[in-house]
Amino acid sequence: MTLVRDEPSVRGPGVANPHWEREWPWLVHGVTTRRAPVDGADFRLFDADGSWNPSPEAEASWRALLDASGLEVAVAARQVHGREVRPLRSRPAGAPSALPGVEGLRLRDPCDGHVTGEAGVLLAVTVADCVPVLMVHPGRRVVAVVHAGWRGVAAGVLEGSLELMAREQGAPAGEVRVHLGPAICGRCYEVGPEVFEALGLGSPPSPAHLDLRRALVDRARTAGVDGRHISVSERCTRCERDVFYSHRGGDAGRQVAYIGVRS
Ligand SMILES: [Zn+2]
Repeated sequence: MTLVRDEPSVRGPGVANPHWEREWPWLVHGVTTRRAPVDGADFRLFDADGSWNPSPEAEASWRALLDASGLEVAVAARQVHGREVRPLRSRPAGAPSALPGVEGLRLRDPCDGHVTGEAGVLLAVTVADCVPVLMVHPGRRVVAVVHAGWRGVAAGVLEGSLELMAREQGAPAGEVRVHLGPAICGRCYEVGPEVFEALGLGSPPSPAHLDLRRALVDRARTAGVDGRHISVSERCTRCERDVFYSHRGGDAGRQVAYIGVRS
């Protein structure tokens, strides 16, 4: 496992793993910020209770994300903190756009991640403290993005997405690269014993600090990912509230983690 500082992306908006950008010019990936792709960018589509309530900035933000990524279609979904990750077998065509002013945004059935081997489609999840998990099988050009909060991690969303990549796309975990992007760090994230229990990490006597990305690294390795293929962002959404939205910091706004393959 290597620590990486996500830097301003050269191929899309926001910040990205600079090693991945150097290695694979056909890959578009990253996490947006408060100022990229537009000043005041906010990708929120749903309220915390799951009701449809796009932020006033959502239309401009999603449109700018598609423009900056150079891909024609983006897919997203209402996220439910579960295990469900959906394969995308072909480019979605004909469906109405999720936002009237954003030609290419398609909404899928509720889930917490997307997997595809299809070029030209931008897979997106919204995050603000939860861990954005970006995955790529370079040989097959198969990509995935997952929203992983503690409930999703406990439910096995990471393992489920790796299984899907192997089963659907012939991308075995041993050959998949994993990057855990900007998320709340262990120093900023204090949770109750029930969270540790749900994650199989014992039961501290009182609230304690949890590094969710460390838990994800352990799970990825157990699921067959080579430790040398895992990178973890140094960046924290709560420590860097001037750059990112933080749910624990009190923000309603959301950034997007995105990944796609250029045609
Ligand atoms: Zn922090």
